[in-house]
Amino acid sequence: MTVVLGGGISGLSAAYYAINETRLASVALLEASDRVGGWIRSRNSPSGALFEQGPRLVRPQGPAGLNTLNMIEDLQLTNKLISIGRSHPMARNRLIYSQQALHVLPTSLKGLFKTISLLDRPLINILWTDLRASKVSKEDESIYSFVQRRFGQDIADHIISPIVCGVYAGDARQISVNFMFKSLFEMEQKHGSVVKGLLINQLEKLFSRTKSRETKEDADESVEDSSATSLARKARLENWAIWSLQGGLEQLPLALVNNLEKRGVRIETGTKCERLTFKADRVELSVNGNARECSRVISSLPAKKLAELLQEQYPELSAELRAIPSVTVAVANLEYRGDVLPLEAFGFLIPPQENLPLLGVIFDSCMVPKKSNTSTVLTVMMGGAWFEKHFGPSPTEEQLLKTAIDGVRDILCITEEPVAHHIAVLKDCIPQHVVGHAQRKKRIHDYISAHRIPLAVCGSSYQGVGVNDVILSAKQAVRDVVKSRITR
Ligand SMILES: Cc1cc2nc3c(=O)[nH]c(=O)nc-3n(C[C@H](O)[C@H](O)[C@H](O)COP(=O)(O)OP(=O)(O)OC[C@H]3O[C@@H](n4cnc5c(N)ncnc54)[C@H](O)[C@@H]3O)c2cc1C
Repeated sequence: MTVVLGGGISGLSAAYYAINETRLASVALLEASDRVGGWIRSRNSPSGALFEQGPRLVRPQGPAGLNTLNMIEDLQLTNKLISIGRSHPMARNRLIYSQQALHVLPTSLKGLFKTISLLDRPLINILWTDLRASKVSKEDESIYSFVQRRFGQDIADHIISPIVCGVYAGDARQISVNFMFKSLFEMEQKHGSVVKGLLINQLEKLFSRTKSRETKEDADESVEDSSATSLARKARLENWAIWSLQGGLEQLPLALVNNLEKRGVRIETGTKCERLTFKADRVELSVNGNARECSRVISSLPAKKLAELLQEQYPELSAELRAIPSVTVAVANLEYRGDVLPLEAFGFLIPPQENLPLLGVIFDSCMVPKKSNTSTVLTVMMGGAWFEKHFGPSPTEEQLLKTAIDGVRDILCITEEPVAHHIAVLKDCIPQHVVGHAQRKKRIHDYISAHRIPLAVCGSSYQGVGVNDVILSAKQAVRDVVKSRITR
């Protein structure tokens, strides 16, 4: 029996991929809380408006985006999918709030040549800044220091830092560039400059395409097409920017549960794993105070939680896992009567140097056409890497609600009171891939494989924090256990 620990999206995905592997026999999933979905949680306000507590939008691009769309099609969720094209205001209008004003980021080529209010220079100028900057050989560094060196401090402060807040709710001065922007970092290390690296990559692609056309095959496209379902191909043809699901993103874990239960996977909620002990021929689990056994474990738990389970038997591995930090985010869903937004957009992010408790605000109701909206729904994200600084260890719901409403009033000039709200404090919800993360991740994998532990890990602590990343990490974890089983 294979036991999957954790019933968030990565654990459910691991069970979904594992059950396809005949060599893994039976699969059970243990979830500590009384529900599955982890941070994915969709609720309704009394008027029926959708309040997303966690993720809401997913990108279709790249192998990880394609992989999720394949899953969506297999789970028959295509009819619930809401696609957002590149010309939609949510894709076109991405804003930064800085020095008491909202600034629109350029999304077109023309926009790159205009001086933007946020920077006092056109964004295209960063190409010259990069070409002039000298190469510094490093194994890793923070995104902030990399961007400051190569593109200028204004870009690090006003553009990259808020983007890092949007992805990690974290501090660009801590997050690893060799993890979040690996390809840009490698371009400097290999070619001396990001711009030179981009040009060389483009030329190499052009050259290999011409060559493969001569041999009547286009490697890249044929590989992608062969694994893409019709939904993934549609996303590419229609140039989607992002997508979501009617009824909220929680439809995805719910559909996975339905699919897994039909295929014989036992899903046990309210079942907390407290300790793992790996014996020569089996794994012993301590679950809700009782002993259980299985052949192998796929853990989708946050690294810190897995560290607790391994502390006794593998303290060294446990220490590496514990060293992956995480931050807490307070989420305020606010519903206002009527259309109160000054413009249609994705929302705005706030650079940390503004020193505000808000990380950013998402304009959820812009996802659906304006005329079908009777209310405006906003999600205010607060705290993150600066949670304790702004709120202390345990803020009250009233304090968080007031902070969110005041922020919306000051920045968007919405003076009305919301007609409905929901506040949640998501403790340790986003792992931080800090400088040295790629090396730490390798040490964790090497340790597991060197000690021949029948354990694979997936989830947001390791590979990337997006929904696509964690689903793909689950697929990889299943491959890892299958491989280790064959070679053991
Ligand atoms: C506020 C917020 C907004 C986000 N927005 C987006 C977005 O728009 N787009 C996007 O792509 N991504 C977004 N993300 C990221 C994405 O939601 C997460 O990375 C993803 O949901 C993590 O899933 P997971 O399964 O790895 O972890 P989790 O959801 O944390 O699941 C782990 C599960 O393990 C369980 N567990 C813990 N300990 C034990 C134990 N001992 N035994 C058994 N079970 C245990 C937990 O109860 C939990 O259910 C967002 C995240 C947050 C927090």
